[in-house]
Amino acid sequence: QADMAMYQAKAAGRNCIYFFDPTMQQKASQRTELDNELRQAINEQQFELFYQLQVGRAGQALGAEALIRWRHPTRGLVGPDNFIGFAEESGLIVAIGNWVLLSACKQLRRWQQQGLTADLSVAVNISASQFRQPDFVNTVQQILQQTGANPAKLKLELTESLLITDINDVVDKIQQLAATGIGFALDDFGTGYSSLAYLKRLPLTQLKIDRSFVRDILTDSNDEAIARMIVALGNTLGLEVLAEGIETPSQFVALQQLGCYQYQGYLFGKPLPVAEFNAALLSLPTPAS
Ligand code: C2E
Ligand code: MG
Ligand code: MG
Ligand code: MG
Repeated sequence: QADMAMYQAKAAGRNCIYFFDPTMQQKASQRTELDNELRQAINEQQFELFYQLQVGRAGQALGAEALIRWRHPTRGLVGPDNFIGFAEESGLIVAIGNWVLLSACKQLRRWQQQGLTADLSVAVNISASQFRQPDFVNTVQQILQQTGANPAKLKLELTESLLITDINDVVDKIQQLAATGIGFALDDFGTGYSSLAYLKRLPLTQLKIDRSFVRDILTDSNDEAIARMIVALGNTLGLEVLAEGIETPSQFVALQQLGCYQYQGYLFGKPLPVAEFNAALLSLPTPAS
Protein backbone atom coordinates (compact mmCIF):
# COMPACT_ATOMS: atom_id res chain seq x y z
CA GLN A 1 0.00 0.00 0.00
CA ALA A 2 2.82 2.40 0.96
CA ASP A 3 4.80 1.37 -2.13
CA MET A 4 1.79 1.98 -4.27
CA ALA A 5 1.43 5.48 -2.81
CA MET A 6 5.12 6.16 -3.48
CA TYR A 7 4.80 4.89 -7.02
CA GLN A 8 1.80 7.13 -7.69
CA ALA A 9 3.61 10.08 -6.14
CA LYS A 10 6.53 9.53 -8.50
CA ALA A 11 4.29 9.02 -11.44
CA ALA A 12 2.54 12.26 -10.67
CA GLY A 13 5.73 14.03 -11.63
CA ARG A 14 8.82 15.41 -10.09
CA ASN A 15 7.50 18.87 -9.32
CA CYS A 16 4.34 17.60 -7.87
CA ILE A 17 4.08 16.61 -4.23
CA TYR A 18 1.44 13.94 -4.16
CA PHE A 19 -0.03 12.56 -0.99
CA PHE A 20 -1.95 9.38 -1.28
CA ASP A 21 -4.59 9.77 1.37
CA PRO A 22 -6.76 6.71 1.94
CA THR A 23 -9.35 8.75 3.81
CA MET A 24 -9.83 10.80 0.66
CA GLN A 25 -10.60 7.61 -1.22
CA GLN A 26 -12.93 6.49 1.55
CA LYS A 27 -14.72 9.80 1.40
CA ALA A 28 -15.11 9.53 -2.35
CA SER A 29 -16.68 6.08 -2.11
CA GLN A 30 -18.94 7.21 0.72
CA ARG A 31 -20.17 9.99 -1.53
CA THR A 32 -20.85 7.59 -4.38
CA GLU A 33 -22.76 5.38 -1.98
CA LEU A 34 -24.83 8.31 -0.69
CA ASP A 35 -25.51 9.38 -4.26
CA ASN A 36 -26.80 5.89 -5.13
CA GLU A 37 -28.83 5.68 -1.96
CA LEU A 38 -30.45 9.05 -2.57
CA ARG A 39 -31.41 8.06 -6.12
CA GLN A 40 -32.92 4.90 -4.72
CA ALA A 41 -34.69 6.92 -2.02
CA ILE A 42 -36.32 9.05 -4.72
CA ASN A 43 -37.43 6.02 -6.72
CA GLU A 44 -38.65 4.06 -3.72
CA GLN A 45 -40.38 6.97 -1.98
CA GLN A 46 -38.31 6.79 1.19
CA PHE A 47 -38.82 10.48 1.89
CA GLU A 48 -41.49 11.80 4.18
CA LEU A 49 -42.60 15.27 5.23
CA PHE A 50 -42.93 16.23 8.86
CA TYR A 51 -44.85 19.38 9.77
CA GLN A 52 -44.01 21.94 12.41
CA LEU A 53 -46.63 24.32 13.73
CA GLN A 54 -46.41 28.09 13.29
CA VAL A 55 -48.54 30.07 15.71
CA GLY A 56 -49.80 33.61 16.26
CA ARG A 57 -49.99 35.79 19.35
CA ALA A 58 -52.75 33.83 21.04
CA GLY A 59 -51.08 30.52 20.29
CA GLN A 60 -53.49 29.88 17.43
CA ALA A 61 -52.35 27.87 14.39
CA LEU A 62 -51.28 29.96 11.41
CA GLY A 63 -49.47 27.40 9.38
CA ALA A 64 -47.07 24.52 9.15
CA GLU A 65 -43.53 24.26 7.85
CA ALA A 66 -42.84 21.12 5.84
CA LEU A 67 -39.53 19.54 6.85
CA ILE A 68 -38.15 16.56 4.97
CA ARG A 69 -37.11 13.30 6.62
CA TRP A 70 -35.53 10.23 5.07
CA ARG A 71 -36.74 6.83 6.23
CA HIS A 72 -33.52 5.01 5.50
CA PRO A 73 -33.95 1.23 5.15
CA THR A 74 -31.17 0.49 7.66
CA ARG A 75 -30.23 3.77 9.36
CA GLY A 76 -33.72 4.79 10.45
CA LEU A 77 -35.01 8.34 10.32
CA VAL A 78 -32.38 10.68 8.82
CA GLY A 79 -32.68 14.48 9.15
CA PRO A 80 -32.15 16.96 6.30
CA ASP A 81 -28.84 18.29 7.61
CA ASN A 82 -27.37 14.88 6.75
CA PHE A 83 -28.29 14.85 3.08
CA ILE A 84 -29.67 18.16 1.73
CA GLY A 85 -26.21 19.72 1.38
CA PHE A 86 -25.01 16.71 -0.58
CA ALA A 87 -28.17 16.66 -2.71
CA GLU A 88 -27.51 20.32 -3.57
CA GLU A 89 -23.94 19.57 -4.70
CA SER A 90 -24.97 16.56 -6.77
CA GLY A 91 -28.00 18.19 -8.37
CA LEU A 92 -30.41 15.63 -6.88
CA ILE A 93 -32.00 18.47 -4.92
CA VAL A 94 -34.11 19.35 -7.95
CA ALA A 95 -35.88 15.98 -7.96
CA ILE A 96 -36.10 15.90 -4.17
CA GLY A 97 -37.31 19.50 -4.00
CA ASN A 98 -40.00 18.88 -6.59
CA TRP A 99 -41.19 15.86 -4.63
CA VAL A 100 -41.34 18.03 -1.49
CA LEU A 101 -43.38 20.71 -3.29
CA LEU A 102 -45.80 18.17 -4.71
CA SER A 103 -46.32 16.38 -1.39
CA ALA A 104 -46.73 19.64 0.54
CA CYS A 105 -49.29 20.93 -1.98
CA LYS A 106 -51.23 17.65 -1.81
CA GLN A 107 -51.30 18.02 1.98
CA LEU A 108 -52.32 21.67 1.70
CA ARG A 109 -55.23 20.61 -0.48
CA ARG A 110 -56.26 17.97 2.07
CA TRP A 111 -56.19 20.53 4.88
CA GLN A 112 -58.29 22.89 2.76
CA GLN A 113 -60.89 20.16 2.39
CA GLN A 114 -60.95 19.47 6.13
CA GLY A 115 -63.08 22.09 7.86
CA LEU A 116 -61.01 22.61 10.97
CA THR A 117 -57.73 23.15 9.14
CA ALA A 118 -59.02 24.95 6.06
CA ASP A 119 -57.15 28.16 6.87
CA LEU A 120 -53.73 26.65 7.47
CA SER A 121 -50.84 27.80 5.28
CA VAL A 122 -47.90 25.59 4.34
CA ALA A 123 -44.28 26.73 4.16
CA VAL A 124 -41.87 24.84 1.92
CA ASN A 125 -38.07 25.20 1.95
CA ILE A 126 -36.59 25.86 -1.47
CA SER A 127 -32.87 25.38 -2.13
CA ALA A 128 -31.10 28.09 -4.09
CA SER A 129 -30.14 25.64 -6.84
CA GLN A 130 -33.74 24.45 -7.13
CA PHE A 131 -34.98 28.04 -7.38
CA ARG A 132 -32.39 28.83 -10.05
CA GLN A 133 -33.75 26.17 -12.43
CA PRO A 134 -35.03 27.98 -15.53
CA ASP A 135 -38.37 26.14 -15.30
CA PHE A 136 -38.90 26.70 -11.57
CA VAL A 137 -41.88 29.05 -12.00
CA ASN A 138 -43.52 26.63 -14.39
CA THR A 139 -42.96 23.67 -12.10
CA VAL A 140 -44.59 25.42 -9.16
CA GLN A 141 -47.57 26.51 -11.25
CA GLN A 142 -48.03 22.99 -12.61
CA ILE A 143 -47.95 21.48 -9.14
CA LEU A 144 -50.56 23.97 -7.93
CA GLN A 145 -52.78 23.16 -10.87
CA GLN A 146 -52.35 19.41 -10.51
CA THR A 147 -53.12 19.42 -6.78
CA GLY A 148 -55.72 22.18 -6.65
CA ALA A 149 -53.95 23.73 -3.66
CA ASN A 150 -54.67 27.39 -2.93
CA PRO A 151 -51.59 29.44 -3.94
CA ALA A 152 -52.48 32.06 -1.32
CA LYS A 153 -51.81 29.45 1.36
CA LEU A 154 -48.44 28.37 -0.01
CA LYS A 155 -45.29 30.04 1.27
CA LEU A 156 -41.87 29.39 -0.21
CA GLU A 157 -38.92 29.77 2.15
CA LEU A 158 -35.79 31.13 0.51
CA THR A 159 -32.42 31.91 2.06
CA GLU A 160 -30.19 34.91 1.68
CA SER A 161 -27.65 32.84 -0.30
CA LEU A 162 -30.01 33.23 -3.24
CA LEU A 163 -29.52 36.99 -3.24
CA ILE A 164 -25.80 36.88 -3.94
CA THR A 165 -26.06 36.27 -7.67
CA ASP A 166 -28.41 37.21 -10.47
CA ILE A 167 -30.76 39.30 -8.39
CA ASN A 168 -32.80 40.31 -11.44
CA ASP A 169 -33.70 36.69 -12.16
CA VAL A 170 -34.67 36.18 -8.52
CA VAL A 171 -36.86 39.30 -8.45
CA ASP A 172 -38.47 38.28 -11.73
CA LYS A 173 -39.33 34.76 -10.54
CA ILE A 174 -40.63 35.93 -7.18
CA GLN A 175 -42.81 38.53 -8.90
CA GLN A 176 -44.29 35.97 -11.28
CA LEU A 177 -45.14 33.57 -8.46
CA ALA A 178 -46.26 36.29 -6.04
CA ALA A 179 -48.72 37.44 -8.72
CA THR A 180 -50.51 34.10 -8.33
CA GLY A 181 -50.80 34.69 -4.58
CA ILE A 182 -47.83 32.65 -3.33
CA GLY A 183 -46.04 34.09 -0.31
CA PHE A 184 -42.29 34.26 0.24
CA ALA A 185 -40.33 34.03 3.47
CA LEU A 186 -36.66 34.80 3.96
CA ASP A 187 -35.44 31.94 6.17
CA ASP A 188 -32.64 32.06 8.76
CA PHE A 189 -32.65 35.83 8.39
CA GLY A 190 -29.61 37.58 9.79
CA THR A 191 -27.17 34.73 9.22
CA GLY A 192 -26.47 35.39 5.54
CA TYR A 193 -25.15 38.19 3.43
CA SER A 194 -28.19 39.83 2.00
CA SER A 195 -27.89 43.42 1.01
CA LEU A 196 -30.61 45.50 2.60
CA ALA A 197 -31.00 47.27 -0.74
CA TYR A 198 -32.19 44.01 -2.31
CA LEU A 199 -34.74 43.43 0.40
CA LYS A 200 -36.92 46.31 -0.69
CA ARG A 201 -36.90 45.05 -4.29
CA LEU A 202 -38.29 41.64 -3.36
CA PRO A 203 -42.02 41.17 -2.91
CA LEU A 204 -41.52 39.15 0.28
CA THR A 205 -44.18 38.26 2.82
CA GLN A 206 -42.17 37.31 5.87
CA LEU A 207 -38.78 37.49 7.58
CA LYS A 208 -37.85 34.53 9.79
CA ILE A 209 -35.53 35.47 12.64
CA ASP A 210 -32.94 32.70 12.81
CA ARG A 211 -33.03 30.62 15.94
CA SER A 212 -29.38 31.44 16.73
CA PHE A 213 -30.63 34.91 17.79
CA VAL A 214 -33.54 33.51 19.76
CA ARG A 215 -31.58 30.96 21.81
CA ASP A 216 -29.79 33.45 24.10
CA ILE A 217 -32.12 36.40 23.65
CA LEU A 218 -32.59 36.75 27.41
CA THR A 219 -28.92 36.84 28.28
CA ASP A 220 -27.11 38.17 25.22
CA SER A 221 -27.84 41.83 24.53
CA ASN A 222 -26.38 41.55 21.02
CA ASP A 223 -28.87 38.84 20.10
CA GLU A 224 -31.65 40.93 21.55
CA ALA A 225 -30.51 43.96 19.56
CA ILE A 226 -30.39 41.95 16.32
CA ALA A 227 -33.86 40.50 16.91
CA ARG A 228 -35.16 43.99 17.67
CA MET A 229 -33.56 45.30 14.48
CA ILE A 230 -35.11 42.54 12.35
CA VAL A 231 -38.57 43.24 13.80
CA ALA A 232 -38.17 46.97 13.08
CA LEU A 233 -36.93 46.24 9.55
CA GLY A 234 -39.85 43.92 8.91
CA ASN A 235 -42.34 46.48 10.19
CA THR A 236 -40.81 49.21 8.05
CA LEU A 237 -40.93 47.05 4.94
CA GLY A 238 -44.46 45.86 5.70
CA LEU A 239 -43.43 42.24 6.27
CA GLU A 240 -44.55 39.65 8.77
CA VAL A 241 -41.83 38.62 11.20
CA LEU A 242 -41.66 35.09 12.59
CA ALA A 243 -39.24 33.97 15.30
CA GLU A 244 -37.75 30.48 14.87
CA GLY A 245 -36.57 28.09 17.55
CA ILE A 246 -38.67 29.22 20.50
CA GLU A 247 -38.17 26.65 23.23
CA THR A 248 -39.16 28.44 26.46
CA PRO A 249 -42.02 30.65 27.65
CA SER A 250 -39.56 33.44 28.51
CA GLN A 251 -38.20 33.50 24.94
CA PHE A 252 -41.80 33.70 23.76
CA VAL A 253 -42.48 36.66 26.07
CA ALA A 254 -39.25 38.42 25.09
CA LEU A 255 -40.17 38.25 21.39
CA GLN A 256 -43.71 39.38 22.07
CA GLN A 257 -42.28 42.40 23.88
CA LEU A 258 -40.14 43.19 20.83
CA GLY A 259 -43.30 43.27 18.71
CA CYS A 260 -42.80 39.91 16.99
CA TYR A 261 -46.15 38.16 16.65
CA GLN A 262 -45.48 34.90 14.80
CA TYR A 263 -43.64 32.00 16.36
CA GLN A 264 -42.27 28.55 15.67
CA GLY A 265 -40.35 26.24 17.97
CA TYR A 266 -40.41 23.22 20.24
CA LEU A 267 -42.45 25.22 22.80
CA PHE A 268 -45.38 25.03 20.39
CA GLY A 269 -44.52 21.71 18.83
CA LYS A 270 -41.74 19.69 17.25
CA PRO A 271 -41.89 18.68 13.60
CA LEU A 272 -44.37 15.77 13.49
CA PRO A 273 -45.68 13.19 11.02
CA VAL A 274 -48.92 14.50 9.57
CA ALA A 275 -51.26 12.30 11.65
CA GLU A 276 -49.66 13.45 14.90
CA PHE A 277 -49.60 17.04 13.67
CA ASN A 278 -53.34 16.88 12.99
CA ALA A 279 -53.97 15.45 16.45
CA ALA A 280 -51.93 18.26 18.07
CA LEU A 281 -53.93 20.88 16.14
CA LEU A 282 -57.12 19.78 17.85
CA SER A 283 -55.86 20.97 21.23
CA LEU A 284 -55.07 24.53 20.09
CA PRO A 285 -57.06 27.76 20.48
CA THR A 286 -59.25 28.42 17.45
CA PRO A 287 -58.07 30.89 14.77
CA ALA A 288 -60.93 33.22 15.66
CA SER A 289 -59.36 34.16 18.98
P1 C2E B 1 -35.06 25.53 8.61
O1 C2E B 1 -35.82 25.72 7.38
O2 C2E B 1 -34.51 26.74 9.27
O3 C2E B 1 -36.01 24.70 9.58
C1 C2E B 1 -36.04 24.83 10.96
C2 C2E B 1 -35.18 23.79 11.64
O4 C2E B 1 -35.10 24.09 13.01
C3 C2E B 1 -35.76 22.38 11.55
O5 C2E B 1 -34.71 21.44 11.54
C4 C2E B 1 -36.52 22.28 12.85
O6 C2E B 1 -36.71 20.94 13.30
C5 C2E B 1 -35.60 23.02 13.78
N1 C2E B 1 -36.29 23.57 14.92
C6 C2E B 1 -37.54 24.08 14.97
N2 C2E B 1 -37.85 24.53 16.19
C7 C2E B 1 -36.76 24.32 16.96
C8 C2E B 1 -36.47 24.58 18.33
O7 C2E B 1 -37.27 25.10 19.11
N3 C2E B 1 -35.22 24.22 18.77
C9 C2E B 1 -34.31 23.65 17.94
N4 C2E B 1 -33.13 23.34 18.47
N5 C2E B 1 -34.57 23.40 16.64
C10 C2E B 1 -35.78 23.73 16.16
P2 C2E B 1 -34.67 20.25 10.49
O8 C2E B 1 -36.02 19.70 10.25
O9 C2E B 1 -33.57 19.33 10.92
O10 C2E B 1 -34.23 20.99 9.16
C11 C2E B 1 -32.98 21.59 9.04
C12 C2E B 1 -32.85 22.40 7.79
O11 C2E B 1 -32.90 21.55 6.63
C13 C2E B 1 -34.01 23.39 7.57
O12 C2E B 1 -33.79 24.56 8.36
C14 C2E B 1 -33.89 23.64 6.10
O13 C2E B 1 -32.87 24.57 5.82
C15 C2E B 1 -33.47 22.28 5.57
N6 C2E B 1 -34.64 21.56 5.04
C16 C2E B 1 -35.60 20.86 5.70
N7 C2E B 1 -36.52 20.36 4.85
C17 C2E B 1 -36.14 20.78 3.61
C18 C2E B 1 -36.70 20.59 2.30
O14 C2E B 1 -37.75 19.99 2.10
N8 C2E B 1 -36.01 21.18 1.26
C19 C2E B 1 -34.87 21.90 1.46
N9 C2E B 1 -34.25 22.43 0.39
N10 C2E B 1 -34.33 22.09 2.67
C20 C2E B 1 -34.96 21.54 3.74
MG1 MG C 1 -37.29 26.87 6.77
MG1 MG D 1 -34.80 28.61 9.47
MG1 MG E 1 -31.81 26.39 8.18
